[in-house]
Formats: sequence, C-alpha cells, structure tokens
Amino acid sequence: MEKKMEDIVSFAKRRGFVYPGSEIYGGEPGLYDFGPYGVELLNNIKKSWWRTNVQLKENYVGLDSAMFKDPKVWVASGHVGGFADPLSECKQCHTRVRVDKELEKIGVHADEKMSKEELNELWTANNQKIKCPTCGATDWTEAKMFNLLVKSNLGDFEEKGDAPVYLPGEACQGIYLNYKNIVDTCRVKVPFGVAQIGKAFRNEISPRNFLFRCREFEQADTELFIRPHENKGSYEQMKKERMEWWVSLGIAPENLRFKQHEHLVFYANDAWDIEYNFPSYGFDEVEGIHDRTDYDLTQHMEHSGVDLNYVDQAAGEKYVPWILETSMGMGRCFLAVLSEAYTVEKMEDGAERTVLKLPEELAPVKYAVFPLLKNKPELVEKAREVYKKLSQRYMCEFDDNGNIGKRYRRQDEIGTPKCVVVDFDTLEDGTVTVRDRDTTEQVRVKIDEL
Ligand code: ATP
Repeated sequence: MEKKMEDIVSFAKRRGFVYPGSEIYGGEPGLYDFGPYGVELLNNIKKSWWRTNVQLKENYVGLDSAMFKDPKVWVASGHVGGFADPLSECKQCHTRVRVDKELEKIGVHADEKMSKEELNELWTANNQKIKCPTCGATDWTEAKMFNLLVKSNLGDFEEKGDAPVYLPGEACQGIYLNYKNIVDTCRVKVPFGVAQIGKAFRNEISPRNFLFRCREFEQADTELFIRPHENKGSYEQMKKERMEWWVSLGIAPENLRFKQHEHLVFYANDAWDIEYNFPSYGFDEVEGIHDRTDYDLTQHMEHSGVDLNYVDQAAGEKYVPWILETSMGMGRCFLAVLSEAYTVEKMEDGAERTVLKLPEELAPVKYAVFPLLKNKPELVEKAREVYKKLSQRYMCEFDDNGNIGKRYRRQDEIGTPKCVVVDFDTLEDGTVTVRDRDTTEQVRVKIDEL
C-alpha cells in the first residue's frame, strides 16, 4: 500500500507521537510537541546517535552548551549580516516565496555573493515566469531580505549598545565556542571530534511539511577538528559512517541517497546532503556533511580576539584546525524513521492492521503485559507483578482493556516488539505467552527467561 504523509501526520497525532504546537489556541505554524510515545522514540534516536558518535568513538567527546550566547557570536558566524532569505510577496494573495528557491526551479541561479540590487534585478527579469503557488498569479513585489534569526531579550546586551540577543540559528556554534576549553581540559589531540544535540530556531517564512521545516527544531551536530589539508580521507569516511547509521535505524538503503551541493559557500571545500525519500514529498535533505576549512575558528578568533591556534608540541606545529561537520535535523530524522516504519498490512482474515516496524532499539515501548481476563483478580495481580519486574529494565505498558486482539492491535500501532500474556497456565507453571509484533507468532516462555 502506498504511504501518504497525510496519513502519517494524522496517525502521529492519534497515537500520541506528535501534536500541533499550542493546539487549544488554534495551533502555531512550524511548532510541534512530542507526545508520550513521540518523546520515547525521539529519546531512543538520540541514544543511538550519541552511542555512535560519542560512546563508540575514542576521539569524540560530548557537549551541551547554553542556548543564549554573546550576540557577537552571531556576527562572527555571519548570521546577523547574512543569514537572511530573499523573499517576495504575491501582490494578489500575499503568499510569500523564497526568491532564490523559485529562481532555482526555473534554472536561474542566484549567487550568494550578489548584492540586494543585483538579486532584485535578476528577480524582476525572471519573475513573470513564476506562478504563485497559491493563486497562480505572476505579479510579484520586489525581493526583500528577511533575517531568519529569532530575537529575544536577556540582561542588558541591548542597553550596552550591543546587538540584541538571539536564540541559536544553528546548534553548532556552541562547539566552536568551547573548542579551546575542551583542548585545555580534556586531553584531546587533533584529530578529535565534539558532538552535541541542541535546539535551533529560525524564522522560517513558510514552515511546512510537518516536522520537515519548523521554526523550532533540534540539530545533532558533530565537528571534527583536523590538521589543515588532511580533509579528504576523513571526509569520505565520515560520509560512509553517517550513511551506515541511517541504515541502522531500519531505513531501506534505496530510500536514502547522497547529493552533492552544486553551489558551495565561499569558504567550503565540499558539501553533501543525505536525503530521505519521504512519502508524498519525495527525496529531501535530512543531514548535511560539510568540509568547512578553518572558517569557523578563524572567524571566532578575529571577533573574540582570543588565539584559537592549536599547538602540537610533539610535531612543533601551530595551526587553526580545519573542521569537518555533520549536521542532522532530529525532527527530520524522527519523521524519516516514523515514515519508514509506518506500515498498513492486510491480514490473513482480510482485516487491515497498522504496524510500526521499528527496530527494537527505537521502539517507544519494549514489552506490553496483559492479563488474559480483566475480571480475574489472580491474573491481574500476576500480570502486574510481571509488568513491575520488566519495567525495572525496559519501557513497558500494562493493558487490561478490551479483548486481546484489540490490545495486540494497539501495541502493533505503536511498534511494541513483544506482548506478554498472563493466563491460567501462568499461575500453574510460571510461563507466559509472548507474541511477536512482526510475525504475530506466539511462543510459551518462562517468566524468568523474558
Ligand atoms: P534547508 O536547505 O532545508 O533549509 P539547511 O541547508 O539550511 O536546510 P542546515 O543549516 O545545513 O540546513 O542545517 C542542518 C540540518 O538541520 C538540515 O539537514 C536539516 O535536517 C535540519 N534543519 C534545517 N532547517 C530546519 C527546519 N527549519 N526545520 C527542521 N529541520 C531543519
């Protein structure tokens, strides 16, 4: 059966994975809340990411940096001056579009180095060919730059005449800011990496496609600090490892692909995206892998006045390390995992069942425990005992509501790998029925062997 994103979106809400943000007030575009099963799945993805990128890598360490940063950070990073989307509005229906993206669609490339005037000229010369996605008109306003950083206020930065404070436009800046701290305190030696999962906020002009383009989202980033010019082999290795991790989430390799950036930012050596084939939307970016040279540390060195050179005593060298970066949207990853696992199957009796075929490691609930009958206190008591025991080690759920078939269906929908049923035999011989999510096969197992 063909998967449709609209089904997945309504499933995600119906089964407590993802709710629209501020829903009782009508909902806010680009904001979502992860519900009880959503947060479990999200945390399990994060655990897998952390294990792969920190625990299993001898030369990587973790970090959790503050969201608010000195406003100069965003000047140094180029976000205050340049982190802006060029927008135009349809004069008929006021729909706003990204000028560069619309031009790209008709094969016209807007270079990042263009001045506002040049970009506007290009837009004016070409926009009669671009139809408004909402009303079909081709009547556009001039292109205006729209900064994506989300402003806030904190302390007296603004009163002191500094730039206002911003919420992070990307999570990775905290890593650059702590590079020196980590070198000074953690016995790391180049090449070494730092990993962080952090929130990012962007005034996206048209939040859309569910978790794909939000105004608040999480990024899981790694920055590998390397000797200048020693990028090639490490970069290829990094691409390979990232793709392997995506496959380890249970995603079919044919639904993943690499795409190289055609137009690089001026300081970059190379940039590739990993794309996932989303139901209804098709292939789109889920993670970026960037070869960024010494740009980030050099910028912060200039703006902070602090020497960020790395001193290699043994080799008698001093240099600003280059950076290889991986940057993944956690929400996009969550959506890819959910989309891939979401399955509607025809059963032998002709009925349909919805199953989340998640790898066990990612399943929100690992075991569901049922007493066969709700109205037999001795079964309920025994089942509660089994539930309590398993809960010590795993996320479990207890359910005595409705017939067993319905209870299986509910667990299939949230991807629970095993259901455990306590019946009268359990009271006699200490065995339970364990039913498998994917095969629906049932086996008899001793409680102690669970
Ligand atoms: P796009 O071209 O889709 O706007 P980007 O190239 O600006 O993305 P980066 O700044 O490289 O994205 O961020 C790295 C990752 O962060 C992306 O691969 C994506 O997974 C995630 N990401 C970026 N913007 C958003 C957003 N608005 N909502 C959710 N995830 C996002």
